[in-house]
Amino acid sequence: MNAPAIRAAARSDVGRVRERNEDAYFAGGAVFAVADGLGGHRAGEVASQAALESLDELSRKSPAIAVRELAASVRTGNRTVYERAQADPELRGMGTTMTALAIHDGTARLAHVGDSRCYLLRGGTIRQLTDDHTVVARLVAEGRLTPEQAEVHPQRSLLLRALGAEEAVEVDEHQVPLAAGDRLLLCSDGLYAVLSDEEIKEMAAQDDDLDAICRRLVDEANARGGPDNITVVLVEIGEDAAPVAVEAPAAVAAPQEAPRRRLDVRPPRLRVPARALVWALVTISALLIVFFVLRAIVSQSYYVGLEDCPAGRTDCEVLIYRGLPTGGIRSLSSVERRTGVTLDRVQPRFHRSLREGIRAKSLADAEQIVGGLEREDAGGAP
Ligand code: MN
Repeated sequence: MNAPAIRAAARSDVGRVRERNEDAYFAGGAVFAVADGLGGHRAGEVASQAALESLDELSRKSPAIAVRELAASVRTGNRTVYERAQADPELRGMGTTMTALAIHDGTARLAHVGDSRCYLLRGGTIRQLTDDHTVVARLVAEGRLTPEQAEVHPQRSLLLRALGAEEAVEVDEHQVPLAAGDRLLLCSDGLYAVLSDEEIKEMAAQDDDLDAICRRLVDEANARGGPDNITVVLVEIGEDAAPVAVEAPAAVAAPQEAPRRRLDVRPPRLRVPARALVWALVTISALLIVFFVLRAIVSQSYYVGLEDCPAGRTDCEVLIYRGLPTGGIRSLSSVERRTGVTLDRVQPRFHRSLREGIRAKSLADAEQIVGGLEREDAGGAP
């Protein structure tokens, strides 16, 4: 069987809100990729471009590219971005997504990091072949968010993985057998954030020139506000033996100076479970400290009070408690000493405060208070 011909088209657009296009794409030979850069100033553009360099090299070697080689090339891109970010303070913290595709022998090989996507369009269906490495996608997978909540979540572009964030990166690998007529769409989140999968399918599956489809996808995203950079690469597996016809590699305009804008995405160094664990430990430690401080205060406090004493009874005994007077709730205190003094021997002006509990600085202080409570005429007689 002849190797199926591959046709491809691509388009990248700054959108209608951003001042710079930090997306980049690659299309060369049978290798295709989309990268969505992140970082302040020029850093996002530098990152996405730098990450594509290794793919350019790979595409020139041989058409037979194993998924392992493709992933290795993506890891090389990670090191390139990471090292340049370390070497230049202006580029510190930059990173990029990477969704790379190599087609050979009727099989699609994918190497993927981040939240750009690869869709397979086949026979009127659309299937997302890549997973989004975002916080919200993980929450959806764990059943803690619905897909509808995820779409409007304010943190939906917070990435769990990106090239350039760390020295090493975990790269997803996929292999998907292809059939004649299949289309593969690589895109940055600027497309799928404003178009549903269903809408993308309707447009990308149209019986039309691939270039026109790419233009319409970008135009539609812009018509929806174009809040982010938009990049699409559309690949079709043909049946004819026509030569591979693809656009020139990575057609992104040369960087120009523009005002610094805010980052929309940052690769967090702490993954979600680690962050949750840290918070849990902090909370538990704080609770333990509060508990021990309270216990220390309680155990060094004394007060003089009455044992359970219904109004009208006069034979209730005055007791010295260790702890805090808590208005009837005795759980924060315990009886430290019985005094043998009953209420009828206490001067009436102390009755009320005795019922509420009279705070003492120490046990000796409490005993002194008890001494002062007694009526003069009662003078120690039992
Ligand atoms: Mn984006």
